[in-house]
Amino acid sequence: MTYDDKNIFAKILRGEIPCKKIYEDEYVLSFYDINPQKKIHALVIPKGKFIDLDDFASKASEKEISGLIKGINTVAKKLKISSDTGKGYRALANINENGGQEVPHLHFHLFGGEKVGKMVE
Ligand code: 5GP
Repeated sequence: MTYDDKNIFAKILRGEIPCKKIYEDEYVLSFYDINPQKKIHALVIPKGKFIDLDDFASKASEKEISGLIKGINTVAKKLKISSDTGKGYRALANINENGGQEVPHLHFHLFGGEKVGKMVE
């Protein structure tokens, strides 16, 4: 599978579609999900062209990998949902068909601001 440059998050990264930005650095962009499932529902995406977590694990550089993990933590702190600034949250990445992934650019969902509930339905 090749990366589809027309996916919605690629368009957001290129600034062709607006987003409610939370945080940005060299490695990640974070913004609010357009259809929030919890009180706080943020998305964190790497800036590189990666389809999903498996693609990322096999192709991303060490700096991109640590940049994404640290980016998630930075966003959680900013939203005051991290372990040290709040009451915690759920980070979730859907992967491909069985994982229910709709947008083919790797993204982590951050759910918080309230109890997130059952892990899997
Ligand atoms: P997935 O099912 O691929 O893990 O999640 C895709 C997420 O992207 C969904 O939660 C959906 O609401 C969100 N989404 C889809 N299009 C847009 C958009 O144009 N802007 C934002 N901010 N979120 C989007």
